[in-house]
Amino acid sequence: MSFRVVIGLRRLQIVTFSLLLAAAYANSTTLYQVTLLADEGKISVDACLSADATKLVVGNKRASRYVATSVESNLVQTRSSLHIVNKTNPCFNYTVDLHKARKDRFAYQVGKSWLVNNHSWLWLPDTNQPVHANFRDENGNPVKLSAPWRIKNGGYHLNETPIHWTSRIAFGDIEIVPTNVGESVLNVALLNIQQAQKRRELVNWVGSAGRAVASVYGRYPLTDVQVLVVPIGKRKEAVPWAEVQRNGHPAVHFFIDPNRPIEQFHADWTATHELSHLLHPRIEYQDRWLSEGLASYYQYIVQARAGMLTNQQAWKKFTAGLERGRKKADRPLRSAKQTRHAYWGGAAIYFLADIELRKSSTGQSLNEVLDKFAALHLPSNKLWSAEQYMQTLDEISQTKIFTTLLAKEATGSTFPIRRADEPAFSPSQNTITADILGGN
Ligand SMILES: [Zn+2]
Repeated sequence: MSFRVVIGLRRLQIVTFSLLLAAAYANSTTLYQVTLLADEGKISVDACLSADATKLVVGNKRASRYVATSVESNLVQTRSSLHIVNKTNPCFNYTVDLHKARKDRFAYQVGKSWLVNNHSWLWLPDTNQPVHANFRDENGNPVKLSAPWRIKNGGYHLNETPIHWTSRIAFGDIEIVPTNVGESVLNVALLNIQQAQKRRELVNWVGSAGRAVASVYGRYPLTDVQVLVVPIGKRKEAVPWAEVQRNGHPAVHFFIDPNRPIEQFHADWTATHELSHLLHPRIEYQDRWLSEGLASYYQYIVQARAGMLTNQQAWKKFTAGLERGRKKADRPLRSAKQTRHAYWGGAAIYFLADIELRKSSTGQSLNEVLDKFAALHLPSNKLWSAEQYMQTLDEISQTKIFTTLLAKEATGSTFPIRRADEPAFSPSQNTITADILGGN
């Protein structure tokens, strides 16, 4: 079969498919048919907009360098938008060259798989109408895809969160292993990990970290989560880089040295740290001490609760973190410039909050307050300020503990705990600390 015939057949399949689904969808929903061409390194999109949409926009302007349109595509490109030419028939198509995006590190080729920043290819209508998408390979067949978006009416809902929020997809030579954490599922996507034994070990590593985080309140905060495990070659540590991205639905991306023994992955704090980030919503970057603080607070505590560390080991690591933060603390926490100050100053705030909650007349723990927060507000598609977040935790706990810590310790204090590692706080001498580490 020639290339031209394949393309013709694909177009026919797409048109038929689009017509069928268009009939099933409400008029207000736009359906994208996305074709992933892993061998060629291209993504093409076909869709028909509703009448009120006249242009497409993208989360990062650099994407205009990678997109190709033509006379037939019914799109004309300006610097940062794609405009519909024939508005009476607002159907369009465009193709994105991932090899160009790769040069800007917007896409990575990992063996025969692709890891792609969605800002490199996903142009969306400049309206509020929902956009759903189906993904196919070059022959019109369903494709193996790791994606962050939630599935609605059989298609991925592409625009539930603000367009500038980032996310990635992975496709090609990948294995996706749904991993249960209680009632939740971590969809672990492994890119180009050739050894089956290594894939099993890595899935087990992510799963055990997820179960450790579930010890915070007996379940993982979100029901389904995209987890990417991307090998990046020989490095000095097992997990040199990891991050959470939140476009569509929060997801965790791990970049690993696959040659390191699995024991080094289990001994590393990165997985429990990153997976703990899904306990909180997206918080404004200037107050990242609040998001990084929560992940830093729990990263060792949940390892103790899961039996991966003893209480004394976890306490030693936690207080060593506080000490590293204190050494970098040269101004109030909310103005922190140093990473260690922000991370461990934030962790100290949550430690103080947990202790004060447990001492208060309500007798709650931070675990219980976060449990209620998740039930009421997660997943959250909005950006939270520190004030909104702390005010909400106050309302849930029916205290003033969080806003007081924000006003006094985070704004007025250089480092929130002066002597956290003094013997009085040690779990061997302090029942509250022992309770925190023991998961009570
Ligand atoms: Zn973090």
